[in-house]
Amino acid sequence: MERIRTFQINGSTLEFFGAAGEVTGSRAVLTAHRKRILIDCGLFQGEKSSREKNWAAIPEALTGLDAILITHAHLDHCGFLPRMLSVGFKGPVYCSPGTRDLMRVILLDSAHLQEEDAEYANRTGYSHHKPAKPLYTVKDVQQILRQVRTLPMGGWQTVVPGVEVQLTRAGHIIGSSCARFRIKGEKHDAHITFSGDLGHGRQETIEAPDPLPETEYLVLESTYGDRVHDPQNPFDALQGYIQQIYKNQSALVIPSFAVGRAQEVLFLVRMLEDQGRIPQIPVILDSPMAEDATAIYLAHPEDHPPNISFERKQRNFFPHRFEWTRSAQESIELTKRRGPIIILSASGMLQGGRILHHLKTRLADPRNIVVFVGYQAEGTKGWFLKNHGKKEGALRIHHEPIPVNAKIESIDSLSAHADSNDLVSWVKNSTKKPEQIILNHGQPAATLALAQKIKAELGIKAVPLI
Ligand SMILES: [Zn+2]
Repeated sequence: MERIRTFQINGSTLEFFGAAGEVTGSRAVLTAHRKRILIDCGLFQGEKSSREKNWAAIPEALTGLDAILITHAHLDHCGFLPRMLSVGFKGPVYCSPGTRDLMRVILLDSAHLQEEDAEYANRTGYSHHKPAKPLYTVKDVQQILRQVRTLPMGGWQTVVPGVEVQLTRAGHIIGSSCARFRIKGEKHDAHITFSGDLGHGRQETIEAPDPLPETEYLVLESTYGDRVHDPQNPFDALQGYIQQIYKNQSALVIPSFAVGRAQEVLFLVRMLEDQGRIPQIPVILDSPMAEDATAIYLAHPEDHPPNISFERKQRNFFPHRFEWTRSAQESIELTKRRGPIIILSASGMLQGGRILHHLKTRLADPRNIVVFVGYQAEGTKGWFLKNHGKKEGALRIHHEPIPVNAKIESIDSLSAHADSNDLVSWVKNSTKKPEQIILNHGQPAATLALAQKIKAELGIKAVPLI
């Protein structure tokens, strides 16, 4: 049974139905002026116990909604959206233009996977449900996308009578935004701001977050609430790994979602090449949606840092010997290619997808290097390989133990998330400090640590959702 967390704020109610004590399944309902707005509609990911929550009955509070707002297109924030059709949701889905474009690619891919899984379960008889059904279908995604209404960054939009919203840049991925709600009151208006996932301003390909606007209440993510990113320079780290695999004629495998981290890594490789710091070797982005995702990335210069012009980046974005693969056959062929070679493939947390067959063929060779560039949620295969792979000596892939002889590395400074110092600075630099902060989207240790840090450094009450 999912625990429900409820807050009363100036006559409005805020309830959390996910990303409480964990990093996935972001869902919060704001009830104001007798209307209900869902902020983010994320999929639960990671451990089986977490994923099973996607199949639980949808809570009463998530039925009869008046509107939905999506902060950004990662699945743990928007991946449950098509499922809302099953409880009759016909209202608008608000988000930024970048989020709309990315959501189209990401949700369609997710629906394809759901349909494939159900088909596989029916073929092999491996399912609790007979017949197995997908969580949602491509048709559902097409329907929910028709309900999307985009909001420009910075402008105010009435969501329901008496409640307006303003998006500001979150600096996490293309389109990512913070949502600031203004709730009309008899005497005063109240402001509640949702950080969504927050970036840190040190990415080469995504502009820094806007400052936190004035708000009395803040819902703040805490993914890295107990950690400070390694100050290592990502260029130096990447250069070192590429030089090693060039010398050994081996492979550098980078688990990475096709959106966000992949573009950042490609651009870093290209810059290293242009500075003559690494040789030009084949760099392959192995993902069916990589091409679409990269096109969307390039089509949203409003989220690029201003120091590099869009035109220049479009011409010089990709490494010199860049290739992308679409078909499964092309992907399989890659496993036979000899080094030196750099392969970027999804899923970023090794929860499935093509990255698994690359690891299956490359992990046993001690000359190869696997580099993590994104957050690994506890319980995922990626988390296991990163933290325990070497000690355990093997990783199970498709029910087979694969020896872990390759080097396992990570470049934490390539994360798209703010660390604990960034989160505190973001709040500190606001022109008016919030009265209360609610911390969501973190493992309990991270969320608790951030609550203490905020109290100690800023003197603001922070309630950890654990
Ligand atoms: Zn995210």
